[in-house]
Amino acid sequence: MENRGDDAPDRAGLDTGRSAERLAPSLLALTPAQTERAIERLGGRAFHARSLRRHVIQEGRILPEQWTDLSARLRQALMERLPPVAGEETDRRTARDGTVKFLTRFAPSAAAEGVPARQGGAVETVHIPSHRDVGTATLCVSTQVGCPVRCPFCASGRDGLVRGLQGHEILEQYVRGRAIGPLGRSVVMGIGEPLLAYPALAFALEAVRSEMGLGARRITVSTVGFPDRLRQLAPTRPGFQLAISLHSPDDEQRSELVPLMRGVPVEEVLQAGDHWFRETGREVTYEYVLLGGTNDSDGHARRLAERLSRRRATVNLIPYNPVEGDNYRRPAPEHVARFQSLLEERGIVATVRWSRGLEADAACGQLRRRGN
Ligand code: SAH
Repeated sequence: MENRGDDAPDRAGLDTGRSAERLAPSLLALTPAQTERAIERLGGRAFHARSLRRHVIQEGRILPEQWTDLSARLRQALMERLPPVAGEETDRRTARDGTVKFLTRFAPSAAAEGVPARQGGAVETVHIPSHRDVGTATLCVSTQVGCPVRCPFCASGRDGLVRGLQGHEILEQYVRGRAIGPLGRSVVMGIGEPLLAYPALAFALEAVRSEMGLGARRITVSTVGFPDRLRQLAPTRPGFQLAISLHSPDDEQRSELVPLMRGVPVEEVLQAGDHWFRETGREVTYEYVLLGGTNDSDGHARRLAERLSRRRATVNLIPYNPVEGDNYRRPAPEHVARFQSLLEERGIVATVRWSRGLEADAACGQLRRRGN
């Protein structure tokens, strides 16, 4: 189902045999060619399929009343057998700055032959109005329900991984985000580790690129940076911007802050980043969450600068967003500025990302913990 090749042997469950059954979990699980075949089975024509995908994917119109060019009969058949989305929005918060954060709950997916039914669960998505391109927003999407990385300062991994999202579930977040307003950029920085849900992510991003019109260059994928996976992926030139969560220049401390990466030396991660740059021609951004009194000393800044000198890379400093029940501190703005200038004095380009929409529980992973 995640295969967009039109000759895919998997026909996305199109032939269920029983008339009332769904043709797929949602329209978003089908490729354009598969959608045409599905619509024909419901009595429509190929151009109806194209129109439907334009409404839903390009314009974010998920209500059948909005598909005014389709007959009432076809709309009815679609709602019964090929609904536009599979999940349900269960919570939404809007912050004063216009940031909207919403929670989508997905049902357990049907068991395929030889594959156990997957558990359901909720993920969060954030629609952040852009300062740079007024009238558009940056969408932050999730790739897994829960997360196996278990960084101690992050709310998303508290209970570990429930399951990876399917391609249509990732795409659904884009469609629901588009329904709020036009998207100019996207960051894959919500719940989960994108490289562990990669086939699903690639499926969704292909539709986002070709049908929503959001080019890969406008998409940033953030990962803890498994060196082997990055080395395999780089030659395929996926086009998106790569961000690697580093969080410490020191092997031992990184193992504490990014537990799933224990045993992988920082240098190996950086070398995979260098390889990525050589293969794709696109610079890697290293993310560094600043935890007051933990990884924000002058020594940390100097050692980080040393690691990155002579490398084509930039650093994105993220002052820690407090998460209920953990013991980290958010550093003072002056301290953040000092860390940044220590890097810059050594020739490393460093930016600071102050999170927005905090009063809407927009700090990473927090809406899901409340909404569950
Ligand atoms: N698993 C991926 C994407 C998830 S989060 C990754 O680790 O890169 C995107 C970024 O937000 C990561 O750099 C993550 O470490 C950071 N982050 C998580 N919780 C945070 C918090 N409470 N405050 C600040 N940054 C946080």
